[in-house]
Amino acid sequence: MTIDISDADRSWEFFETVRAHMARHGHPATPRVYEVWYAYACRQDAELVERLDQAIALPHTVPVALIEALHEEFFARERQTEVVRQTGEKLSNELTRILQMLANAGRDTSSFAAALEKIAARLPPDGELRKIVDTIVLATRHMEAKTRRLEAEIERCSSEIRSLRQGLEASKREAMTDPLTGLYNRRAFEERLRIAAAHSMETDTEMALLISDIDNFKQLNDAWGHQIGDAVIQVVASSLKESLPAGSTAARYGGDEFAAVLPGLSIAEAEALADRTRTLVASKRLRDTTTDKPIGQLSISIGVAGYVLAERLDDLIRRADKALYGAKDAGRNQVKSERIAGNK
Ligand code: GH3
Ligand code: MG
Repeated sequence: MTIDISDADRSWEFFETVRAHMARHGHPATPRVYEVWYAYACRQDAELVERLDQAIALPHTVPVALIEALHEEFFARERQTEVVRQTGEKLSNELTRILQMLANAGRDTSSFAAALEKIAARLPPDGELRKIVDTIVLATRHMEAKTRRLEAEIERCSSEIRSLRQGLEASKREAMTDPLTGLYNRRAFEERLRIAAAHSMETDTEMALLISDIDNFKQLNDAWGHQIGDAVIQVVASSLKESLPAGSTAARYGGDEFAAVLPGLSIAEAEALADRTRTLVASKRLRDTTTDKPIGQLSISIGVAGYVLAERLDDLIRRADKALYGAKDAGRNQVKSERIAGNK
């Protein structure tokens, strides 16, 4: 099945296709089922498409359990991390509460024991009552020590859960971050783009994509060395981040290539923003700090594309890339965009 969705006029046909799949296999219209068939129709993930194609080729209808399993496998991973985080948070809050209760109980037991000790001191040392009170004091002190041990144990559990949760968050961040620039990496970019495209469809709002590449970076690396090359990549990364509006995502797409997902921006707004970024980078006057020599003119070229409803995301990326190469061909240090039917 191929769906030509680069034409916005056919987007309804596309939605109909998703619905037709669901109807043919008798699937309920739940968000999860819809999400799987939608990804299939978009051909976002080759492996998911292949797995569904195999199931469709069988003589019986595709069981809804398979759709659920595919959803679990292809969509739920990130969310699971979120669930683990939330559960960890709840558990550690609960433990803090128990800890507080135990501390109070410990204090009460301790003052009860102290009061009993005072009473015992006033009783005749060899009397029967003194023996009884002494035994109660001993038992109470014993209980107090037990409570303290329990308290320490829960405190240890609680801090273990806290550090597990922090580790989980750190590893999630690390898996999504480019170490040189601190921007999102390509994997995280693709995920953000998918989320932004889904949001754009749900809310019928615009979304644009920008891809930029440093001009003649190989020459710069050759002339100044890899270390200065790395520092230049960091400067471009922070310029891009600085010029983006809130809600956008800046990512390092590859070696000297960057991308930005721009939810809510029309293609014209994205072009203006891209040009501001380009100007900002071109205004940098960089110097080699060891020799104080100027590094020369730094520039980037940028390609912009506006998302068309239900467009395949690799098509959108391809169009932004094409625009970028147009900017390179036209002499670099400029912004070009790709407009197609469906762009406002
Ligand atoms: P153009 O204007 O056409 O983009 O020319 P260019 O020389 O920039 O060509 P291209 O973008 O293909 O070259 C990218 C270079 O970036 C090649 C590679 O050596 C360099 N590079 C990739 N990753 C890194 C990195 O992490 N650090 C440094 N210093 N250089 C990198
Ligand atoms: Mg380059």
